[in-house]
Amino acid sequence: MLIQAYANEELWSPEKLQLPERSRLYHLLPVAIGTPFVESLTSYIARLAESHSVLPSVLISKEITPYLKKVFAKRLSSRRLRALFDRARALNGTGDIAMDFVQALETLTLRSDLCFLTLLNCASILPPRGLFRAYKAWCPACYQKWRLSRQVVYEPLLWAIEAVKVCPQHHQPLCLYCPYCHKQSLLLEWHSCSGYCSVCGKWLGKLGTSCDFLERGTLSPEELTRQNWTANTIGELITVVPRLSSPLPRGNVAEAMRTVVNLVTKGNIAAFASRLGIPKNTLWMWHTGKALPQLDVLLKICYCLEISLLDFLVPEKVANQPLKISIQKSPEQSHNKRISPKCFNSDRVEEVLLATLAISKQPPPTMKEVAQQLGYDRRTISRHFPELCRAISTRSQSYRKALRLTEVEQSCQEVQQIALELLNRGVQPSEARVSELMSKPGYLRYQAVRAALQEAQCRARL
Ligand SMILES: [Zn+2]
Ligand SMILES: [Zn+2]
Repeated sequence: MLIQAYANEELWSPEKLQLPERSRLYHLLPVAIGTPFVESLTSYIARLAESHSVLPSVLISKEITPYLKKVFAKRLSSRRLRALFDRARALNGTGDIAMDFVQALETLTLRSDLCFLTLLNCASILPPRGLFRAYKAWCPACYQKWRLSRQVVYEPLLWAIEAVKVCPQHHQPLCLYCPYCHKQSLLLEWHSCSGYCSVCGKWLGKLGTSCDFLERGTLSPEELTRQNWTANTIGELITVVPRLSSPLPRGNVAEAMRTVVNLVTKGNIAAFASRLGIPKNTLWMWHTGKALPQLDVLLKICYCLEISLLDFLVPEKVANQPLKISIQKSPEQSHNKRISPKCFNSDRVEEVLLATLAISKQPPPTMKEVAQQLGYDRRTISRHFPELCRAISTRSQSYRKALRLTEVEQSCQEVQQIALELLNRGVQPSEARVSELMSKPGYLRYQAVRAALQEAQCRARL
């Protein structure tokens, strides 16, 4: 085959080739941008560090810090880095720290979309107080799904928002405590790695572990509906806000308040406040735009009015809604119902408390259940009958403690039985194999059960 020789001018063109600008750090693509599951900035920093094979602490102190504008973070000593990790939630937030980190990271990666990994676009409508949680929350099912399908393991911005308590995909409460070391992890740490506990380093996507949300209890169907709605409505806001031509203005909140008060109670602020269980003066401050309600309050209002957070914050949309306060969802009708002390039927309450203590029902009712049955606030009853309330609580706690001890004991026996069966089949009783066969794998968080497993494993090695 004849090869055509290049002409001299083709090889040595006088025109300089224009190379595109190079970024100092990788041009790493954020996950799920423009969706409810968009990655958080703290997760992005951890992944960026991982992609350069350095720890987040090294990436921040050596690479990001020189590009920060604020003096607070210049020349980060390890003590100041610790202080930054302690308030890492601010990196995903609405203030100066988030803005500073976004600008520094955009300069370093040559990306222009990193502000969408924060709530910066909601800065004028959401006050920072109570907006983010200080520690990580996660859905083990999501982690596991991403790992098994070889997708990027990351932390969505949604999980960092305090008001979000369940995973909207798996409809289960988010976890707050590592199932192995029972510690909480800060959003960003010296050696953070998405999907792993930053204290003990174990994988957090283990299925079947209990999600210790709030009072370690399972959510009632009504509460689960409410929590799913909350996660979805915040997800919708996160999805839509980046697509808006400009951030939602602060005035929208006051305008929405005025519109709903007009529609629901014909402009009567006191009546609206009373129906939602909000102090009248506070509502007046929001109504006049002198203050902004926190996200959890906005959610409460929207849930009672059966409108989405986004519809509430867009004045044209809220004005066209047929609004009424949902009686079932109104806090006035909830179990927190406030009853005037004048209506407190002391004789009847005492009678019920004494009867509760006299009956040996299994399981003995908790004070919360007794209060619900009576229709009074637990604290009110406790003020009138402190001794009786304490006796009921102590009995219920002792019962639950004894029950837990029995279950732990049963779990120990089960673990040993499973380990023996595995050994008989010639299989090593690893923690993963044993937990798969356990009826309550979450019990491996108890020291006694772990000790039983370790003992069985030691016997297997002999
Ligand atoms: Zn999930
Ligand atoms: Zn751990």
